[in-house]
Amino acid sequence: MRPFRYERPEDTDAAVALLSEHDGARPLAGGTNLVDLMKLGVATPDVVVDVSRLPLDTVDPLDGGGARIGANVRNADLAAHPLIRRDYPVLSRALLSAASPQLRNLATTGGNLLQRTRCVYFQDVTTPCNKREPGSGCSAIGGYTRYHAVFGHSDDCIATHPSDMAVALAVLDATVVALGPGGERRIPAADFHRLPGDRPHLDTVLERDELVVAVELPPPVTGAVSTYRKVRDRASFAFALVSVAAHLEIDDDEVITGVRIACGGVAHKPWRAARAEELLTGRAASTAAFAEAADAELADATPVEGAEFKVPLLRRTIIAVLRDLAAEATGGRAGITGEEGPR
Ligand SMILES: Cc1cc2nc3c(=O)[nH]c(=O)nc-3n(C[C@H](O)[C@H](O)[C@H](O)COP(=O)(O)OP(=O)(O)OC[C@H]3O[C@@H](n4cnc5c(N)ncnc54)[C@H](O)[C@@H]3O)c2cc1C
Ligand code: SF4
Repeated sequence: MRPFRYERPEDTDAAVALLSEHDGARPLAGGTNLVDLMKLGVATPDVVVDVSRLPLDTVDPLDGGGARIGANVRNADLAAHPLIRRDYPVLSRALLSAASPQLRNLATTGGNLLQRTRCVYFQDVTTPCNKREPGSGCSAIGGYTRYHAVFGHSDDCIATHPSDMAVALAVLDATVVALGPGGERRIPAADFHRLPGDRPHLDTVLERDELVVAVELPPPVTGAVSTYRKVRDRASFAFALVSVAAHLEIDDDEVITGVRIACGGVAHKPWRAARAEELLTGRAASTAAFAEAADAELADATPVEGAEFKVPLLRRTIIAVLRDLAAEATGGRAGITGEEGPR
């Protein structure tokens, strides 16, 4: 590991000042990603700004409903928080599907959002990687691509974003609150991570001298159901091959009045399935409708070579998640379970 300066600011303004003053400064929270990358020589900060003791570690109800989650709330504490478990089960389930209990005890809300890709070439400094070293090339193209993209990739980068929590936040229409030298800025969670384009070294829209201070959740919708399902190579302690977070509102006539779907493991950011959502809104809930929506969403999929299996896997996962949510919302009434519908 290269030598670096260690700073422990007293408050968020001092932390932002340190980030502004030093180009090579990076915040340190739980350290479960940053320290690993420093050991590998992938991250080489000159100044490590330890923000882990800043008082950003509470979950507070917001006036008018909703919740504000401090950036330092640990993933384990957030998943277990009574308000989150009751009103935002999709978030609790996404968090519990990630990493291991030991890691979740250290990992924070801010750090989880800012964690880097698990592309093996990104982590191997002996190989070219445009994300690690802009302009050097992409070793994954034509290489090991089992965890790589299906949507929105570019000639410069085909990596996926690894966070489970971020997929849940995208479906919840959450807001990321960032503090910079000019004050606070609010960013919709669905717009926080970027597609790679020709600048894959930028994972998010956060400026280098901004600190994530909180994530805000809107008030829960009465009667809505939500969940998160992750498909992976092992039952635990593995990143998503594909994942689906979904939120569903169904009226007494079994008509879908609200639907939000976000997919993980398939793009450089949580992939909001806008086309499927549009197709389902106002339709009667049925497995055939869910299959049609999944097919519409996947019509534009361009899986990279080696990740083609993710297209049918994601299709089945979207259908299964929506079907189970519809059954939950309606007490398992007929017309929702049954035949899968057309391919
Ligand atoms: C073996 C293993 C398995 C894992 N499995 C999963 C998994 O299945 N799913 C999953 O989602 N994750 C998984 N993770 C990743 C883990 O969730 C992340 O490492 C963790 O969430 C990062 O949080 P942290 O607080 O430790 O961040 P740190 O390592 O401290 O920081 C990570 C990044 O965020 C930046 N940062 C931290 N806080 C802030 C802030 N407030 N504002 C701005 N920038 C900030 C840091 O500078 C750094 O770039 C796994 C990790 C490991 C090691
Ligand atoms: S896919 Fe992206 S992260 Fe992986 S080697 Fe290519 S440029 Fe680097």
